[in-house]
Amino acid sequence: MPFRDCIGHQQSIGLLQSAVTHERLAHAYLFHGEEAIGKRLTAIRLAQALNCERPPEAEGLDSCGICRSCRQIEARTHPDFFVIEPDQEQATQQIKIEQVREIEHHIMYRPLIGERKICLIDNADRMTIGAANALLKTLEEPPAHSLFLVISSRPSALPATIRSRCQALRFTTPARTQVEAALILKREISPADARFLAIVSEGRLGEALTADVKDTRARQQELVDLVCPQSLQSIGAILSSAEAIAKADRAQDMLAWLARWIRDLVLIQVEGDRDQILYLDDLAMLEAYAQQANTDLLLDLLREIEKTEQRATRHLNLHMALEMILLRLRDAVAASSVPVPA
Ligand SMILES: [Zn+2]
Repeated sequence: MPFRDCIGHQQSIGLLQSAVTHERLAHAYLFHGEEAIGKRLTAIRLAQALNCERPPEAEGLDSCGICRSCRQIEARTHPDFFVIEPDQEQATQQIKIEQVREIEHHIMYRPLIGERKICLIDNADRMTIGAANALLKTLEEPPAHSLFLVISSRPSALPATIRSRCQALRFTTPARTQVEAALILKREISPADARFLAIVSEGRLGEALTADVKDTRARQQELVDLVCPQSLQSIGAILSSAEAIAKADRAQDMLAWLARWIRDLVLIQVEGDRDQILYLDDLAMLEAYAQQANTDLLLDLLREIEKTEQRATRHLNLHMALEMILLRLRDAVAASSVPVPA
């Protein structure tokens, strides 16, 4: 299970491999980039490569994935490998000072098996100020044998003092074709399903690898039912749908699906690359709407949905927001004059 598992991060991996070969590995790295694209996986593969008992003889540093050390790191039972992450059980999901202190204590001592003690800090931006300060102290004078892999999809939320102590490696979102190929290989799903999940996940392979195809398609269909002419033509239907969706706590998810649908619609209007279209099964409906929809209003709506997503954490009334957006959509696509398909 070595580095080839990490889809689309060849550049970062190459840099790390070369740093090891030239004995220039830093004591702390900050892996940053979008969520669920493979930062954590790359960190684990690096830890395995650095501790592997039977490293492959191929070019560059890598791991075998099956020796005792590789398996222990995967299972997080390796005595020289530590993971700090927010407590999923807690509502606030913070990394607390005690978690950092405990690892700090372990990391001071020489490695038990390998050459390095490695500490992976996932979602590091969730550290409390106390935790960040404790980590900073260690990063200021890291033990010679230590390696810190700090992972964050919101690096700007990390204290600048921590960032400046880490060598930053930016992870870019893998290309859609890479995600599709990985999905077909690892999940053995059809190319159509792989394409679908790759577009929906916007390159977040970690998400696409675990998403339930049937469930995801069902949610997409729910949005199609919501925006079909029969539904949009009736204000009563819009209001009752919005209410039902909000009650089921599904407003945010539906808004995300709606944004994808509007993007498809605009793409058709501007005669963009049709390979990017997600709602392929409903092309006829999209084309009917595209003929008469007002592009400016659609773009306004996309911005509105984005704003709603950003505010959603702060007691926004999602029911009202969804209702308003659907009513505006009705106007934007001039739903009342689209022929209802037989
Ligand atoms: Zn190994």
